[in-house]
Amino acid sequence: MEAMVFIHAQQPLSHEDRKTPVPGPAQVLVEVSACAVCRTDLHVVDGELKDPKLPLIPGHEIVGRVRASGPGANHFYKGERIGIPWLGWTCGVCRYCQAGMENLCDTARFTGYTIDGGYAEYTVADERFCFRIMRPWIVFEPESSKAQQSWSAIRKFALQPTADTLPNRKASVDAISTICQPGRCRN
Ligand SMILES: [Zn+2]
Ligand SMILES: [Zn+2]
Repeated sequence: MEAMVFIHAQQPLSHEDRKTPVPGPAQVLVEVSACAVCRTDLHVVDGELKDPKLPLIPGHEIVGRVRASGPGANHFYKGERIGIPWLGWTCGVCRYCQAGMENLCDTARFTGYTIDGGYAEYTVADERFCFRIMRPWIVFEPESSKAQQSWSAIRKFALQPTADTLPNRKASVDAISTICQPGRCRN
């Protein structure tokens, strides 16, 4: 697959041919439809965030379709449109994870920072941190890239963004807009 790869800070990304990743346990293989550029991505490639995975495929605001599932991954069906957010993995046992605030987990892994992201034709992601893009969300494309950051916000506010709950949907979008401010993707 083609991929854009971050190797050196403040240098252009490298256009590379990479082996298409194979989904591991609990992971899905996603064919990337779109991946936005967030201010946090710029912080990463400018070398302003410490200890990125290197070399790294950046990009954490991903929309794509599931093409395969790894062992034990069964949340999504083949062909389903899903979003992959910044938060890519957490420990599940620390006080933050136990309190439902896993976005603050001290050992969290982040898409396009400490794990490969979406500036590629395919990516793999832990399905527990992905979410379906339901029909109402499609109206936000290509802005829906921001919707990937909404998962914790939606859960936090217990919102169900459905077509017939416009007030909730608007509140969801408001919540989303607070999530992905420059350099603040962990909020
Ligand atoms: Zn972001
Ligand atoms: Zn944790």
